[in-house]
Amino acid sequence: MKTRAAVCRAFGAPLAIETIEVAEPGPGEVLIRTAACAICHSDIFYIDGAWGGDLPAVYGHEAAGVIEAVGAGVTRLRPGDHVVATLIRNCGFCPACAEGAPAFCEAAFPLDFDTPLRDASGKPLVHGLRTGAFAERMVVDASQAVKIPKDMNLDAASLIACGVLTGFGAVVNTADAKAGSSAVVVGCGGVGLNAAQGARLAGCNPIIAVDIAPEKLAAARQFGATDAIDARSENVEERVRGLTRGRKADWVFVTVGAKGATEQGVKLMKRNGATVLVGMPPSDVYATIDPGSLAADGQRILGSKMGSARPMVDVPKIVALYRAGRLMLDELITGRYPLDMINEALASSRSGAALRNVIVF
Ligand SMILES: [Zn+2]
Ligand SMILES: [Zn+2]
Repeated sequence: MKTRAAVCRAFGAPLAIETIEVAEPGPGEVLIRTAACAICHSDIFYIDGAWGGDLPAVYGHEAAGVIEAVGAGVTRLRPGDHVVATLIRNCGFCPACAEGAPAFCEAAFPLDFDTPLRDASGKPLVHGLRTGAFAERMVVDASQAVKIPKDMNLDAASLIACGVLTGFGAVVNTADAKAGSSAVVVGCGGVGLNAAQGARLAGCNPIIAVDIAPEKLAAARQFGATDAIDARSENVEERVRGLTRGRKADWVFVTVGAKGATEQGVKLMKRNGATVLVGMPPSDVYATIDPGSLAADGQRILGSKMGSARPMVDVPKIVALYRAGRLMLDELITGRYPLDMINEALASSRSGAALRNVIVF
């Protein structure tokens, strides 16, 4: 069927609003009427060409909407269900799924090989980030859709799909941080703020936010940081020592995909501490780390993909915390834009001025 979408035809160029064709959902797939799709920095990296890939493409992957149709064999979801749509396509039975790591599912899906999107001339469009949610409708595997209550705002729900799962999950799942452990969050954008509120929910203390933008540090305090360090004007390592009785942090969460942030983050963990790398830099970015001191100090560096999330466990958990008033979502939304103004929304997100901008349909 026909639907409107924001199409990336050249890296770094404005997205084009086009009427495209979305396939009917195949076996095991669902068609979702998109209600909201937030802009994540991964979308911007793809649009700007930082990660390469094929074009033309429809990106957008932090989404929520309403099931419009289901393919053969889908019994868990039905038309009218409200869902969060993630990029985690998973079979549930392969070794990775059985280990509880569906983001690394080893199964192959028809959508991996055959895009459901065609442009007006019938040419295939890349199904960006397995979701293609900068469009009024999207087709995804049913495993990517998690049902949520119908009385939950879908713009707030969209944020859960990537930024919240990633930041909250880095602390609660990847680190499994214990109450009273000290945490540093490097970078206080959408993911960093969710790491801060994840740390608050886990009972971390202190929770130290590091950024170069005073307004982001103020936001971090709102989301759970007990202390804030301006990396432009303060000696970050000395401040962290001062706040941790000279030991530095049990956990450091680096939410910015940058060489400098990674190298600084590693210096903020204590002996026997750990650094969790959450932010994904552009391709070909390398950081310099001293392996000798890492070994001598018994330190760990962990990668965290999508917050080590199991969407069927984590999305309902996050929804329940939100509804109990213990996890903030609405406060993450800086601006709401119609699809026609997606380039303005992207410019605002690129400038770093926004926490999260959401395309609403
Ligand atoms: Zn994302
Ligand atoms: Zn699997």
